[in-house]
Amino acid sequence: MDTKFFLGVLLAVILVFSSAAIYTSFARLPAASAVPEDRDTLYQVSTIDALVLGVYDGVQPVSEIKKHGDFGIGTFDALDGEMIVIDGTVYQAKADGGLYAVPDNTTTPFATVTRFEPDTITTTGRPMNFSVFSMEMSTSLPSRNMIYAVRMHGTFPLMKVRAIPLQQKPYPPLMDAAQNQSVRTHTGITGTVVGFYTPVFFKGINVAGYHLHFISDDRHSGGHILDFEVPENTTVEYDITPSFRMMLPTKGAFTGVNLSQDLSGELVRIES
Ligand SMILES: [Zn+2]
Repeated sequence: MDTKFFLGVLLAVILVFSSAAIYTSFARLPAASAVPEDRDTLYQVSTIDALVLGVYDGVQPVSEIKKHGDFGIGTFDALDGEMIVIDGTVYQAKADGGLYAVPDNTTTPFATVTRFEPDTITTTGRPMNFSVFSMEMSTSLPSRNMIYAVRMHGTFPLMKVRAIPLQQKPYPPLMDAAQNQSVRTHTGITGTVVGFYTPVFFKGINVAGYHLHFISDDRHSGGHILDFEVPENTTVEYDITPSFRMMLPTKGAFTGVNLSQDLSGELVRIES
């Protein structure tokens, strides 16, 4: 056996075993009949493309959102900051840098929640920024055609978050509203990453891939994650969520806006 061939075989063996190691850290996907209908459901208000086009009027109160999940993300009426739902409490990270508990009558134009019960965990094998995390963690999922709620607690060397300020009518599209976003970069901050992975075929409905928000343990800071550094050996918890329920607004700007366009390019520029 010549050396090149031997090295080739060795590499192939290592790759097979290392990918097997990634997969064994995951549970298998559950049988459809074994999925509890209301617990493993992603509940969503409106669509991400409606938000991209400036549909910011709140259509559902936080009290209703809480009936469908204790964990999730979204925004608020008039695009007033970023929503983080954790352990059943709804928080608002505002452009002033503050984090506030939200009264039940506050409304949302876009939110996604579920009841978080981790099915499986994995750990980061090395330090990762957001783009490396998105790429590597996507390939290690048991299936990329599945919805996952994602939770990760740790102390992050870097956590860059944004919050968009309250918008005035007539509402500008999200791209313009995001021009005035307030960005904060925290170093060595301890807290929880809260969000979802949705498949590519969710394009237009949700942010395909990882959409993550952050909330600090002291409950003083948070926002939509633009970038981060995740240390190695950080535990990432996944809740496999095979069921999806979407509530579309039945009145207001949503009913007339043109949602037949492909806005994915625009969304990538806004979300990162
Ligand atoms: Zn967000």
